[in-house]
Amino acid sequence: MGEQGPGGAKKTTKAAGSGPVRSSAGAAGKAVGVAASEMAAAAKKAAVAKKAAAAKRTAKAGARKSVPVKAAVKKASPVEKAAPAKGAASAKRSASAVKPASAGRAVPAEKAVPAKKSASAKQAVSTKKAVPAAKKSVSAQQAVPSEATAARVAPAQPPRNESHTALVRRARRINRGLAEVYPYAHPELDFENPFQLVVATVLSAQTTDLRVNQTTPALFAKYPTPEDLAAANPEEVEEILRPTGFFRAKTKSVMGLSKALRDDFGGEVPGRLEDLVKLPGVGRKTAFVVLGNAFGRPGITVDTHFQRLVRRWKWTDEKEPEKIEAAVGALFPKSDWTMLSHHVIFHGRRICHARKPACGACPIAPLCPAYGEGETDPEKATKLLKYEKGGFPGQRLNPPQAYLDAGGIPAPPLGATGATGAAATGAGSPAAGPPAPGSPAQGTG
Ligand code: SF4
Repeated sequence: MGEQGPGGAKKTTKAAGSGPVRSSAGAAGKAVGVAASEMAAAAKKAAVAKKAAAAKRTAKAGARKSVPVKAAVKKASPVEKAAPAKGAASAKRSASAVKPASAGRAVPAEKAVPAKKSASAKQAVSTKKAVPAAKKSVSAQQAVPSEATAARVAPAQPPRNESHTALVRRARRINRGLAEVYPYAHPELDFENPFQLVVATVLSAQTTDLRVNQTTPALFAKYPTPEDLAAANPEEVEEILRPTGFFRAKTKSVMGLSKALRDDFGGEVPGRLEDLVKLPGVGRKTAFVVLGNAFGRPGITVDTHFQRLVRRWKWTDEKEPEKIEAAVGALFPKSDWTMLSHHVIFHGRRICHARKPACGACPIAPLCPAYGEGETDPEKATKLLKYEKGGFPGQRLNPPQAYLDAGGIPAPPLGATGATGAAATGAGSPAAGPPAPGSPAQGTG
């Protein structure tokens, strides 16, 4: 209707100006009067039409303004998408939450912001805004969320059709989160030089780093160099290594690699992967531990924890260590590889356990597609924490200063049952006895 008004007015004016003028003056005057009133009516119609058009444009503009909310949600990463549907519907509820949002609450927190700042709905759900929220929530001090906080964790859903770019972003966000939770992450084998590290790593197969750390002081005190160990009496070495299990096979390996170091490498541990993997008992995992921690050369350590966690996080579906190493390596710059390995292994040992992951106490829960695989009740989950997160001693008898500064407790030496008992109970009681099965001191590493 709005478009017809102006056209109709023009037509009416033209008709008034042609027919009546040829008839008579009165008729013409009458005709002019009629034409004038028609013109006035047409002008009125045009004005109304103009107003209607303006009103329509305004309505359209209003409609356009409401679109960005949907568009912004579309931009969110798959993990962030996990809860938004619920979160958007519950923005009002989130905004009225009394307790501050933590990692577990990342999704509701993101939704709570737009409720307070309705004009910036787009910002509230953008990826950039999500990062600081996650970062804040995973600080070391907040590693164990409060009950209310953990109870609000939105179960993350497995990312579907996640692009490589989105996967890289999510993987790096998890690593940054872990770096804040474990700023003191380090190799958990005690060593003073590359020779001690390669021997300790070989001995760590099928046992805990703690047990190795409790055993190697006697070994290195008696055989401090590759030449000494290569020339040792095997039975004496076996006796020292007995606590680590598989001690005969391990004796063969460490004496064999000592002979190879003595005969082929001048008594020095080589700093190249291709040389290290030629040593008896040394595979890629051991080689990367040595390269990364004794030579400062980037390496990814794919141990049992690493394999389990990267699969839970959907970083890769590969099952073979070498393929996992390649797949995960492609998500991070080389310079991150060594510390990434420590972060993941620390998390696997302390919170994301094989059988009972402590999801309710996990600071990276909002980024984890496997949230809910373990205990989600915050109080029960907190009881599952191991090592320093659970208030227990670590695995190293001589941990780095950063670990001690963060409240970490050194592991007790072999045979210190009182101290080991404290490790098991966390009570610090010297008369507590040997560690209970499944306790941190007896864990799977
Ligand atoms: S503890 Fe649970 S939420 Fe945390 S990384 Fe492991 S599976 Fe995911």
